[in-house]
Amino acid sequence: MRRPPCLVAIPLATLALLACMPALAQPPRPVLYLQPYGASLPESTLRGVEEALRAFYDVELRRLPLAPLPRKAWYAPRKRWRADVLLDALEARLPPGADRILGLTAEDISTTKGDVYDWGVMGLGRLGGKTCVISMFRANKGVSAARGAQRLAKVAVHEVGHTLGLEHCPNVGCLMEDAKGRAATSDRETDLCATCRAHLRQSGRPAKDGRGAPWRSKMVFMFLLCRRRSTQCLTKRRTTRRRRIAGAPSPASGPRLAVSPHRLRRRRAPIDATSHMAALGRYATSYINTLCADRLSTEAHPQSH
Ligand SMILES: [Zn+2]
Ligand SMILES: [Zn+2]
Repeated sequence: MRRPPCLVAIPLATLALLACMPALAQPPRPVLYLQPYGASLPESTLRGVEEALRAFYDVELRRLPLAPLPRKAWYAPRKRWRADVLLDALEARLPPGADRILGLTAEDISTTKGDVYDWGVMGLGRLGGKTCVISMFRANKGVSAARGAQRLAKVAVHEVGHTLGLEHCPNVGCLMEDAKGRAATSDRETDLCATCRAHLRQSGRPAKDGRGAPWRSKMVFMFLLCRRRSTQCLTKRRTTRRRRIAGAPSPASGPRLAVSPHRLRRRRAPIDATSHMAALGRYATSYINTLCADRLSTEAHPQSH
């Protein structure tokens, strides 16, 4: 028996509505376009930039085809490209409905900083604007290709941060630190600090936790350092104990075998690696929190990394 068309259409419409509900519940993610410029950067470098941006910002990334650098941005006296002109060109290339656009190039770029008309930079972003540009030229000078790619990915997070309204941050290790003319500054940067994160939260664009970024976070580094020290400490104490049990002289504590009750108590106390690690973890957290104390940047924003 054939069912009337309306009886088939109603369940189908219900299914379609249910399928659309998650999309209706969540607004579409802002789209950040990537515009590779000039000589192409390695694919692995571009992927590193994308991983870093996805790790910190809730955006959808779309890559535009490689385009030549606009001639009007060429600064002949220094044989490099004016980043501020590139930002204007990127603004003109902004696809309809795009949230932001990031230009990427291997060429040297520059801008005016203070009294210096043409100051070479790794990146430039418009504070609270829609455009930013980054360059590999300075990032990989004197370092391996991998380190250069990592620096470029950090600069991408930094410049997009400027477009989201973040100014330079005085907290050491924050990705919004001012490079102050040194590419190596980005090597110590691993995360956005609590102040910068609070700023993004207040502006309605909270940052993600940074997991998946192509570098190791400071917390992980400190955890590994603590674990290494803890293991060394445990090994040393176990070796000493074994020597004492075997009656062998211990080079470190042999002359002190006739120990005080206090030392005896300490020796008998179980070596609790878990609580030792927890204490070290607490120390690491308090150290990071001290670094990221709630201090707002008061410096003038030079718009360059
Ligand atoms: Zn910060
Ligand atoms: Zn900057």
